[in-house]
Amino acid sequence: MGKVWFVGAGPGDPDLITVKGRDLIAGAGAILFAGSLVSEAAMRWAPAGCVIADSKDMALAEITAWLVEQAQTKAIVVRLQTGDPALFGALIEVTQPLDAAGIEVGVVPGVSSAMAAAAAAVETLTLPEVTQTVILTRVAGRTPMPAGESLQELAQHHCTLCVFLSITLLHQVVEDLRAAGWRDDAAILVVHKASWPGEEKIIRGTLADIRDKCRAEKIASQAMIIASPTLGARHWPQLKKSKLYDATFTHRFRRASE
Ligand code: SAH
Repeated sequence: MGKVWFVGAGPGDPDLITVKGRDLIAGAGAILFAGSLVSEAAMRWAPAGCVIADSKDMALAEITAWLVEQAQTKAIVVRLQTGDPALFGALIEVTQPLDAAGIEVGVVPGVSSAMAAAAAAVETLTLPEVTQTVILTRVAGRTPMPAGESLQELAQHHCTLCVFLSITLLHQVVEDLRAAGWRDDAAILVVHKASWPGEEKIIRGTLADIRDKCRAEKIASQAMIIASPTLGARHWPQLKKSKLYDATFTHRFRRASE
């Protein structure tokens, strides 16, 4: 029996898959990819004769059945997922039935869209003495948020918030941040199709105007919302520098020079 690999395809640009993920695709007997966001271009490395299917019209039971069936005859079966499989990827729902069927499972991490969005906009998610914490979250849609995890509660930390799956609920995001004490002029970043060649859109706004700006750009899907006190730091005249490169700071690889 074969092994099923859950491979993070990255945020969209096919070049952002890991070398390990690409090598598994190149050796795969079967690949099941998650339709909407995983660029079919990622298929460019699949070998001739590889069975390739799109899971976008499949329910969970069909996905599992497909993977189990392919693993009967192929050594490497790849489940290609957007970004990183551990984030909002329904990973465990699929590994459990595979475990039950006695099929070996492996996971290859991927570049999450949170990272791709920050990269697209040349932003940092952490900055010394500004924030050292990143929360990856969403607002409640059909999936409810567990107690204590409403965006309003999380936003009270005033750290970096990367909000997935919520662009159609941007009004809610804005409302929750306001209720948590974020000011109207707080910077908000929305990146649509981060890293997708020719399709990426970067929208910079504030709590007060981000909705209008996204509406004007017709952004209604596939977008990362980042709220952070670090946004725009590239243009700040004063910056608290990282201790790592501080000349007066001794660490494992370097002695302080002053
Ligand atoms: N596992 C994925 C997230 C899957 S949930 C990851 O690590 O990125 C799907 C959500 O991810 C979307 O609603 C959107 O918020 C975000 N997303 C995925 N790809 C994106 C991209 N290229 N640009 C912006 N947001 C993206």
